[in-house]
Amino acid sequence: MKQYNKCSEGIIKDLITIVGEKNVITDIARLAPYSQDEVTDERFHHLPEAVVFPENREQVAQIIRLANREVIPVTPRGAGTGLAAGAAPMYGGIVLSLEKMNRIVEVNSEHLYMVVEPGVRTQDIQKAASDAGLLYAGDPSSGENCLIGGNIATNAGGNKAVKYGTTRHQVYSVEVVTPTGEITELGGLLNKSTSGYCLEQLIIGSEGTLGVITQATIKLMPLKIYKMDFLAVFPDAETAIGSVYKLMKAGVDPTSLEYMDNEAINVCARYLKESYPFQQEGNYLIITVESDTEDELDAKAVRIDEICNCNGAIAMLVPDSKKIWTARRAFGDANREECYIHSPEDMVVPVKQLPYAMKQFMQICREHQALGRVVAHAGDGNVHLTIMQGQICAENWAAKIDEIVNDLLTFTYSIGGRMSGEHGVGSKRKKWMHKFADPVQLRMMQAIKQALDPVGILNPGTIFELE
Ligand SMILES: Cc1cc2nc3c(=O)[nH]c(=O)nc-3n(C[C@H](O)[C@H](O)[C@H](O)COP(=O)(O)OP(=O)(O)OC[C@H]3O[C@@H](n4cnc5c(N)ncnc54)[C@H](O)[C@@H]3O)c2cc1C
Repeated sequence: MKQYNKCSEGIIKDLITIVGEKNVITDIARLAPYSQDEVTDERFHHLPEAVVFPENREQVAQIIRLANREVIPVTPRGAGTGLAAGAAPMYGGIVLSLEKMNRIVEVNSEHLYMVVEPGVRTQDIQKAASDAGLLYAGDPSSGENCLIGGNIATNAGGNKAVKYGTTRHQVYSVEVVTPTGEITELGGLLNKSTSGYCLEQLIIGSEGTLGVITQATIKLMPLKIYKMDFLAVFPDAETAIGSVYKLMKAGVDPTSLEYMDNEAINVCARYLKESYPFQQEGNYLIITVESDTEDELDAKAVRIDEICNCNGAIAMLVPDSKKIWTARRAFGDANREECYIHSPEDMVVPVKQLPYAMKQFMQICREHQALGRVVAHAGDGNVHLTIMQGQICAENWAAKIDEIVNDLLTFTYSIGGRMSGEHGVGSKRKKWMHKFADPVQLRMMQAIKQALDPVGILNPGTIFELE
């Protein structure tokens, strides 16, 4: 395993020279929040030796060059809402918080793009777009907290990915500081390019291991005029999930197609102190559609109604949109509040396998006497199965959750799925990468990492180990 140097007093002085005293933290109490993201399992928490807050790209580049010279690990960090422990500094060293680089540089409503620094909150980007009468289509459920740099680094998905794709589909270009401290812009304001490797797409989703994102040009699009949410209530997971593929091929082009099982509805109800339709027995599909005309919207509504009713829906409702989306977005917080010991998993499977996969996932939970709750970006085949501590005692949790995840991933890979649809590998899933990733592909990834980051300073121990 690679040996790194500690941040000596001299290195802290160098950091202060680069970013100023107010932008360097070294005292333990203030370092503690930077030892973790939203992963609650303490096995994945690591205290940094310093947190630095650069205010511009040149400062980022100087920090990275210093880290190369002194062999100090650097972990880029956005808001720390990640669910893979990617922003937790596995080998200590420097946490590089991008939160002070938080300017919206340009909103260009004429040519439909926005230039942003990495520390802009996703929700603020959505608002700036909608203030200009436009849409930014990235929409992770954590949008009011997470930052665009984190979204790009994790290729965040979310509630509109079924129609508009994930964050990688929203990006024209990224400015990065490379792992050796050079500044470059990858991509451009282009709708096509076959001019060598597509390096901006390599950076997107690389979880801070191949470059520090210091600016991005993201896509905007015209807002659709008409929009409607439907709540289809089903008696069980089978009928709800069985409707997903039918809705996908029916031409209704859903903007969102989200599933909440009965357990998920009830934990959100308890957390938010709310009640929801058919709360005792229901399983939900939240279906959003958009259109340019009222007639088109009506036609989509009729089609959705037919499909869900034919598939066994017990009710088709036009819900209070704010209330139902608040519930959907609260799922993570609700589980965390109910029990700190839990593990949110993020498998993605081919949509055609979703009904079978959902059955098997729940069967695996039952076999281990574990309580599983599910919300899913169902239209993407992305299942957020949260495994709660339930009857498992705290001392046995680490071993037990590893057994459960091993079984879940053995099954997932057997049907052509992957361990994460959008949260990433981080250090939380790293050992599963070594077990389940195709060895040829893993070697390709490791070779890319070694070529771009020869000293191995940028977010080491995230996604995979090199040795
Ligand atoms: C309640 C809740 C709901 C969520 N819902 C969704 C969802 O719907 N869809 C989804 O995809 N995710 C979701 N997430 C997970 C998380 O919000 C996303 O992964 C998000 O993109 C992380 O952004 P962040 O700013 O918090 O990044 P962080 O957690 O700080 O970092 C995440 C990773 O990105 C790297 N990174 C951060 N900034 C940079 C940068 N500027 N340059 C290079 N690397 C960088 C870090 O090193 C780390 O590996 C949810 C999380 C919570 C807690």
